[in-house]
Amino acid sequence: MAPAMDCLFCQIAAKTIPAQVVLENNEIIVFKDIHPQAPTHLLIVPKKHVARVSELTDEDDGLVAAVHRAIRDLAKTVDPEKKGFRIVVNNGSAAGQAVAHLHYHFLAGRLLSWPPG
Ligand code: AMP
Ligand code: ZN
Repeated sequence: MAPAMDCLFCQIAAKTIPAQVVLENNEIIVFKDIHPQAPTHLLIVPKKHVARVSELTDEDDGLVAAVHRAIRDLAKTVDPEKKGFRIVVNNGSAAGQAVAHLHYHFLAGRLLSWPPG
């Protein structure tokens, strides 16, 4: 799907809206969440516009792998005293998805209780 001009994360990926970018390559961009829910709260965003996990196709396998490579690399940056981190993907508005462009929350730096809300 082509970048949507009305999509916030497409515009961040295209650099028409600023963000605090911490990692970027051809497939993904990672930037700081504007309303952090943990000391480290990053959003891993595929540059391709996919609305949510349930809209991924087999053609997106490379994109999914790129997200996991980013998670692996980000894991090396978390505080060794608080090594845990959590990946959250909200799928659909009933699950709390506010931005309809696939994104993976990377949360770290505090104790993360279970189950999530
Ligand atoms: P979700 O509710 O799963 O769709 O998550 C959307 C996330 O995007 C929220 O955690 C917001 O705080 C974050 N967010 C919204 N606008 C921006 C922005 N301009 N820059 C960075 N993060 C944003
Ligand atoms: Zn988009």
